[in-house]
Amino acid sequence: METAHKNILDLSYPQLKELVCSLSEPAYRADQILWWIYGKLATSFGEMTNLPQSLRQKLAEVASLTSLTPVDETISADGQTRKALFRLDDGKTIESSLMLYEKTGSSRERRTVCVSTQVGCNIGCSFCATGQQGFERNLRPGEIMEQVLYFMRLVSTEQLSGDAATDPARRPVTNVVFMGMGEPLANYEAVWQSIVTLNSKHGLGLGARQITVSTVGLVPQVRRLAGESVHVELAISLHAASDALRNKLVPVNKKYPLSQLIPACRDYFKKTGRRPTFEYALFQGVNDSVNHARELARLLEGMNCQVNLIAGNPTACQEFTPSPMKRVLAFQKILRDSGVSSTVRVSKGVDIEAGCGQLRSRWIANSSTP
Ligand code: SAH
Ligand code: SF4
Repeated sequence: METAHKNILDLSYPQLKELVCSLSEPAYRADQILWWIYGKLATSFGEMTNLPQSLRQKLAEVASLTSLTPVDETISADGQTRKALFRLDDGKTIESSLMLYEKTGSSRERRTVCVSTQVGCNIGCSFCATGQQGFERNLRPGEIMEQVLYFMRLVSTEQLSGDAATDPARRPVTNVVFMGMGEPLANYEAVWQSIVTLNSKHGLGLGARQITVSTVGLVPQVRRLAGESVHVELAISLHAASDALRNKLVPVNKKYPLSQLIPACRDYFKKTGRRPTFEYALFQGVNDSVNHARELARLLEGMNCQVNLIAGNPTACQEFTPSPMKRVLAFQKILRDSGVSSTVRVSKGVDIEAGCGQLRSRWIANSSTP
């Protein structure tokens, strides 16, 4: 039965070597398998033609290469954002998206995949569609990697040809952000293994700067991440600059208040050299006043960081309506006048419910078997 198999994508590099050795093959076969998976985007062992036929057969008997089934896909009106909903092997669903960014003066063309790390989320942020769905389970490393592979295959069949493994400029996916459903640092081991695979020359070979982990601010895990060998970019979902307001919007703030979170972010920069980004979604009448902006400027004073301002995505909850752009820009001006660097991000794919957990919410609402 498919689910009784090991999924090859769940294995770390050392574990894959162990598997091939247990099948009486030399360890370098692991490198060949990974080259087929991440370089040639193979979807079956049968395609791996430089492996002995007997090994391909044995692998097919003990292992599988896929566990996600795409069940829904949407493309934004401008064609720049694609969102996919996948069914996992236990019937649960997750969503992921691909965002295309054209080359601009200062930045290169990017093809960014946003991955989910959990089915649902137990943090319960009041403005977040995923938070309102509750928590079901952590994703395995292979389930995280397969979201990336899905979009790599899609891009390479639609736009690119050639050898993705040997030509980094032609990589179908250039960036990965852990910003989909779930709290990545609450599924630390699987997320860390995925980061290693994304970064490794045996995997995707992405630079650490091309990988971003977005967290609600689990302080011990932020500190742990700072000590790891791959220094990824860190985004903190802040959304409020006082404990009183943040306790309401992001309940985990009661456990890890700003007096713990901000020093952990400063230390992240000291240890990794990566400037943290603070995500701040503005909701009308909730966190978007002049005073809120001043509070934020005071909190981040003198810190080497970046603020991403975004007009919140509409959710089912009446209390949270996006701030008008005029207000977002006024907020930004106060930050600028106080010397805090910020960008206003345009929410990509709002027309296809690309906000965290939104496609899945609609799908669950319309389906009797989510
Ligand atoms: N759990 C992690 C990563 C997933 S959420 C985290 O919270 O950082 C990805 C981002 O979407 C977070 O910054 C989150 O705060 C934001 N988000 C969730 N709901 C939103 C909404 N309605 N409008 C704008 N941003 C939202
Ligand atoms: Fe979970 Fe992030 Fe949504 Fe909060 S914003 S409920 S941490 S997914």
